[in-house]
Amino acid sequence: MKQRLSILGSTGSIGVQTLDIVAENPSLFEVNSLVAHRNWELLARQAIEFDVDSVVIADESKYELLKEALAAYPIKVYTGSDAICGVVQSGEVDVVVNALVGYAGLHPTIAAIEAGKKIALANKETLVVGGALVMRMAAERGVPILPIDSEHSAIFQCLVGERSPLRRLIVTCSGGALRDVPMEQLKDVTPEQALKHPQWSMGAKITIDSATLVNKGFEVIEAHWLFGVDADRISVLIHPQSIVHSMVEFEDGAIKAQLGTPDMHMPISYALLFPHRASRPEERFDFLAHPTLTFAEPDRVKYPALDIAYDCMRRGGTAACVMNGTNEVAVAAFLQHQCRFTDITASIEYALERATFVANPTLADYEASNEESRALAAEYLKLNK
Ligand code: NDP
Repeated sequence: MKQRLSILGSTGSIGVQTLDIVAENPSLFEVNSLVAHRNWELLARQAIEFDVDSVVIADESKYELLKEALAAYPIKVYTGSDAICGVVQSGEVDVVVNALVGYAGLHPTIAAIEAGKKIALANKETLVVGGALVMRMAAERGVPILPIDSEHSAIFQCLVGERSPLRRLIVTCSGGALRDVPMEQLKDVTPEQALKHPQWSMGAKITIDSATLVNKGFEVIEAHWLFGVDADRISVLIHPQSIVHSMVEFEDGAIKAQLGTPDMHMPISYALLFPHRASRPEERFDFLAHPTLTFAEPDRVKYPALDIAYDCMRRGGTAACVMNGTNEVAVAAFLQHQCRFTDITASIEYALERATFVANPTLADYEASNEESRALAAEYLKLNK
C-alpha cells in the first residue's frame, strides 16, 4: 500500500527534494497535502503536479492568489497556521514530513504525534525547543520520529541492529562557509559570504546557522533527544569534505560511520522507507575522487555558539528554546543587513542572561519563552545598532 504524505515546507530545499523522491517512486508514495509559507506559485504548481487533496499557505495575504491559481482543480485550499495542524491530522495521512523552518515546526509536530502519525523530521528546531515534551509524547503514543538531518540519519543507520550500549556519538561538521575566515574578520562578513556553503545547498537560515555553528549546536541537542545520549557523550569533529556524515563509537572501541556524497535525497528516502532503502542507481560513491578525509577539533573561541548549545542542553528546561528564538530573529536581521554576523551569537548570550527560565516547561511555557526570547533579541539589536 502507498504511504500517504503530508509535506510541510514543500517549497523549501528539503520539501522539493522530498517531492523528487516521491516522483522517483510513484508506486510507493502519494501526496495528500502540501504546506508553504508565502511561495504560492510553486505551491500551486506542486499541488497540480502531485494531484494533492489539500494545500495550506500559512501567510493569509497569499490565500486569494493561491485559491485562484487552483480554481480549476478539486484541491482544498486553506490558510493560517492552525490549518497546518488540521491537514497533518487528516485521516488520509500516514506520514508527516516536517520540513518547516524554525519554531513554526513545533506545533505541527505535536499535532502529528497527537494524531499518531509517523514523522520524518527535518525541522530540528522542534527538538531544540521542545525535545523533552516531544519525545515524551511520542514515546507515550508509540509514534516513530525518523531523522532527515544527514548527521542523525547517519547515526540512526549506524545503530540499526546494535543492542550493546554506545560509548559516544561523533557528529561531523563541515565548518560552514566561514571556516577559513580569521576570527577578527567575522564582524565584517556579509550575508552573501556567509550564504556560500562549501558543500551543501540548503535554505538561507540553516546556511547561516552552519556558518555560526549554531546549527551544529542544535544538532548536538537534536542527537541528545533522538538517541537519549547525554551531552558528555556527544562530540563534534570538523570534517571539511562532508563525506563521513557522522559516527557511533561502541564500548569495544569499534566505530561505525555512514559515508556518501553530500546529498539530502539519501537521508530523506531512508526516513521515508526505513527499514528498506530506495533504489537510486545513479548514486555511486567514488573513493578515488575523495582520497583524503580529514578531521579537526572545532575552534570553540571563534565559534562560541557550540558551547552555548552544550550549556543549554545541560541546563534543560527553556534554555535551548531561548537560544532558538533569539537566533531566529538575529539571523533574519543579519540576512537583511541589519546587524553584524557576530551579533547573532552575542544576541543569544544577551537573551540567555536575561530570559525567564522554566525547568519543566509545558507547551504554553515554550510559547511564552519563544516570545520573550524574540523580544530580547530585538532589544539587543536595537541597543547594538
Ligand atoms: P527552506 O528555507 O529552504 O524552506 C522552508 C520551508 O518552510 C519553505 O517551504 C517555507 O515556505 C516553509 N515555511 C517557512 N516558515 C513557515 C511558516 N511559518 N509556516 C509555514 N511554512 C513555513 O528550509 P530548508 O528546507 O533548508 O530547511 C527546513 C528544515 O530542515 C530546517 O529546520 C532545517 O534546519 C532542516 N534541515 C535542512 C537541510 C537542508 O539541506 N536544507 C539539512 C538538514 C536539516 P516558503 O517557501 O513559502 O517560504
